[in-house]
Amino acid sequence: MARDGGDKLKEACGVFGVYCTDPRRNAASLVYYGLFSLQHRGQESAGIAVQAPPPEGKNEHTIECRKGMGLVGEVFNGEVLSQLKSPAAVGHVRYSTSGTSSIENAQPFVSHFKLGSIAVVHNGTLTNADVVRELLEDAGVGFTSSSDSEVIINLIAKNYKKGLEKALTDTIKFIKGSYALVVLTGDAMVGARDPNGIRPLCLGRLNGPAPDENGASHESGVSGGGWILASESCAIDAVGGTFIRDIEPGEVVIIKRDDVLSFTFSEKTRRAVCAFEYVYFARPDSTIDSVDVYGARVRAGEILGRESAVAADLVVGVPDSGIPAAIGYGRATGAPFGLGIVKSKYVGRTFIAPDQGLRERAVSVKHNVIGSEVRNKRVVLIDDSIVRGTTSRRLVAILKDAGAREVHIRICSPPVRFPCYFGIDTPHRKDLISNMNGVNELCASLGADSLAFISVEGLLESIDPDWGGKDKAGYCLGCFTGEYPIPVSGER
Ligand code: SF4
Repeated sequence: MARDGGDKLKEACGVFGVYCTDPRRNAASLVYYGLFSLQHRGQESAGIAVQAPPPEGKNEHTIECRKGMGLVGEVFNGEVLSQLKSPAAVGHVRYSTSGTSSIENAQPFVSHFKLGSIAVVHNGTLTNADVVRELLEDAGVGFTSSSDSEVIINLIAKNYKKGLEKALTDTIKFIKGSYALVVLTGDAMVGARDPNGIRPLCLGRLNGPAPDENGASHESGVSGGGWILASESCAIDAVGGTFIRDIEPGEVVIIKRDDVLSFTFSEKTRRAVCAFEYVYFARPDSTIDSVDVYGARVRAGEILGRESAVAADLVVGVPDSGIPAAIGYGRATGAPFGLGIVKSKYVGRTFIAPDQGLRERAVSVKHNVIGSEVRNKRVVLIDDSIVRGTTSRRLVAILKDAGAREVHIRICSPPVRFPCYFGIDTPHRKDLISNMNGVNELCASLGADSLAFISVEGLLESIDPDWGGKDKAGYCLGCFTGEYPIPVSGER
């Protein structure tokens, strides 16, 4: 079954962690807010884990965790959060890419062992998870889920007697694939990003509690700031924090009290940030690896206008991610930008389209046309991507039904022809419509008057205007080109 028409690549997951330097502050509520602003990265489950005081007679802190299926606002309420008081907490929102959609695979994962407890939240997919799982099982380690993230936590737990730093480096040297990890221990929070930096992770500073008009803090008696680790900078903004920097590919940061210890665990490897983060996954108010996502989307539209302009009376973006590019396309070609399509904000996670026939209907429920805006006009329709083609076909039909004279589709990503192995849910290759059809065939099948995709070079230029054709390194383009930054067994 597919949600919302099954016609978008699905975001992977979002991770968020807060470490307060004042032990009287409560990090769980801040993580709750952070997860809300990362909800677009995963809507199947949500969870928060916190440091908890040592059980009676023990010295080691332990970890408590609450997680459930559903949106952040469905899993957590005031009562649940009041049970999670702690100065350090990590949280996760999930869309399943490896492992099934069930509570067993919801994160954080927590492991309790002789020397303490740890919680792990992970965004990404390991390409050698099966091998590592088998090795751990041979060594007597039990698993309760089918998730890659449990492989990571079991590997850290197995190495923990060597000390946190060594356990982490040994673990991350062993795993392959994409990961942005946040780990919570009894006294520290740790962030790590894979050597190619495929999935994003950034560091922020948590400011002290804001004083009220009388100069008093709302969190009585507490002071001091702390640190934040987040998939996207928009989540740092959501808790009133200050963005400091991106975690570098192959970097580990260990946060303890007011110190951030950083080291690089991998030899120099090719940076390969997921190009789709800029096209669609990330929120437009985020900055990823020093690139402002909104700016990249507007530039993509400008470049599309340069590469494939067509005479038009109106430029319309498919909400939400097509809108910045439509603004850019309008600027570049001089065609007026307008809101020709309205999106229902309430079609989402719970909207199930059980088969292809109903998927067509799902698109109509999700989008509708403003007839007075498009009637008798030559319309350019800008979208972020075409996956199965269901959305584009239906949008062309409803625009023409509403009286549009011509509909020209322009897409801000190159054709998606190959699967993703790094944490993004892609349909089977046979369901990727650009894998099965050339542009002309596809245009005819969508019922459009013309169709054009941004070039790979144009996409790179939209992300980095100074790219200048030097080299394609820097970004993963695997689902467009079939060339992956990490060897994937079975792929050419
Ligand atoms: S294959 Fe595509 S979706 Fe996957 S990481 Fe690379 S660019 Fe992103």
